[in-house]
Amino acid sequence: TTTSPASNGNLFVVSSPNVVYTDSEILSKYTYRTTSVTQNGAGKYVATPKETVYDFKVDRKIPKVGMMLVGWGGNNGTTVTAGIIANRRGLVWETREGPRAANYYGSVIMGSTMKLGTDPQTMKEVNIPFHDVLPMVHPNDLVIGGWDISGMNLANAMDRAAVLEPTLKAQVKKEMAQMVPLPSIYYPDFIAANQEDRADNLIPGSKASTAHVEKIRQDIRDFKAQNNLDKVIVQWTANTERYADIIPNVNDTAENLLKAIEQGHEEVSPSTVFAVACILEKTPFINGSPQNTFVPGAVELAEQHGAFIGGDDFKSGQTKMKSALVDFLISAGIKLTSIASYNHLGNNDGKNLSSQRQFRSKEISKSNVVDDMVEANSVLYKKGEHPDHTVVIKYMPAVGDNKRALDEYYAEIFLGGHQTISLFNVCEDSLLASPLIIDLVLVTEMMTRIGWRQSSQAEYRGFHSVLSILSYMLKAPLTPPGTPVVNALAKQRGALTNIFRACVGLEPESDMTLEHKLF
Ligand code: NAD
Repeated sequence: TTTSPASNGNLFVVSSPNVVYTDSEILSKYTYRTTSVTQNGAGKYVATPKETVYDFKVDRKIPKVGMMLVGWGGNNGTTVTAGIIANRRGLVWETREGPRAANYYGSVIMGSTMKLGTDPQTMKEVNIPFHDVLPMVHPNDLVIGGWDISGMNLANAMDRAAVLEPTLKAQVKKEMAQMVPLPSIYYPDFIAANQEDRADNLIPGSKASTAHVEKIRQDIRDFKAQNNLDKVIVQWTANTERYADIIPNVNDTAENLLKAIEQGHEEVSPSTVFAVACILEKTPFINGSPQNTFVPGAVELAEQHGAFIGGDDFKSGQTKMKSALVDFLISAGIKLTSIASYNHLGNNDGKNLSSQRQFRSKEISKSNVVDDMVEANSVLYKKGEHPDHTVVIKYMPAVGDNKRALDEYYAEIFLGGHQTISLFNVCEDSLLASPLIIDLVLVTEMMTRIGWRQSSQAEYRGFHSVLSILSYMLKAPLTPPGTPVVNALAKQRGALTNIFRACVGLEPESDMTLEHKLF
């Protein structure tokens, strides 16, 4: 049953000779305008406007979609599940501050709007929900399932997570008690030793194997069949693993990676086994944790199979602030000279990260997030110059899921002066991550229904396997090999917004508003 209140992409039509609606598709002809820059003999830049005409095709039929989470019984897994049930049923619960109702705050797709254009009469902007720009799946309609090495049912796991209000939990408990994660693969060396006591729901075998890949593929097929689904999206929200070493002949190419799995090589992580199973099953796989799941062999395998992958590491709190604030400071011409980031948290994620090798994965993921913004400003920074940047994470059980992030930004301003900005950010980590899990699924699903071709070509094809359009939701965005990483939050949102607009033949969102400036 469809319970979505949304208009499923029927809120507006585009009136243009370049856009055609059929019963099953939206077809648009779109002129992509960029600027190509070269240097002439005298070292002067030559900027040349360039136009490429693309045809986009959007499949209008909204499919029935399953979301399978690896680590379903964790804080994020239980919170996002309870949140979707609460929304689906329109629940209201008592808190000490009065009644609270289910919502999708924190989701770009469900909670934000996009400027469609301007009403010529009133001169006012017309804004529509992001969810209504394209015919997207509604999260209330997602069928949820997944795996966990802990066999606890989701109701008890939700209690263990200690995130939600008891009055909310009471209303979803019965439904969640029926949900039990599928057994998963556990290779103890990849996550902290302190996780061992919850590992009671295991597929036999403690290193990678073809049998593991096949079991996961079968799980996906079974879930699809049992729930009558058109497609499934899988997301890793399990523990942060240590990095896998990149070893020639083991994980450097697709062929070697498959061979290494067959031979049970110890350097193949559980998350990579999940990724490989999904790729072979042509099921999109997104990595919400920081480890290098997508070793070069996994990326190559995805390209060979035309399967979508995305990652790494949900960008929920501290890093999201950082990728907005640093963008602002450096774009304002202020020379940021250091960032000191301290975190403490008391949930199971914090416990796992108290182990050095798992912390190291997080440290790497959190460290490179300002590089593109620094490199883009050659006025403030000499080639190779960087602000100092340090990241500390401590496990403090008492604060539970209420993660604390303390950041000091130190900058040089006019004539040798200084600006110090101190941030103290407190929020329930899983309440920040859950809407991102939803956005990642909705956008990824949408990308499976978009085709493109250059006007001279006969066949439509999909976007590149590596979905860099998901960057807004991710701390260390994976991009197609050889293409730049964009961390700046506004640029990431711009890419998401404008690609969606292009699919319905609309120009990129522009803030020029010449119509208000030239009379
Ligand atoms: P959590 O520890 O509560 O949940 C992780 C779950 O994964 C646990 O239930 C654990 O039993 C399970 N698990 C571990 N290995 C598994 C395997 N091989 N197969 C299946 N299940 C497995 O952690 P969380 O707070 O839900 O966070 C999940 C992940 O998301 C962590 O890696 C965290 O670093 C990452 N993350 C979270 C946020 C956030 O804001 N909450 C932000 C960025 C990244």
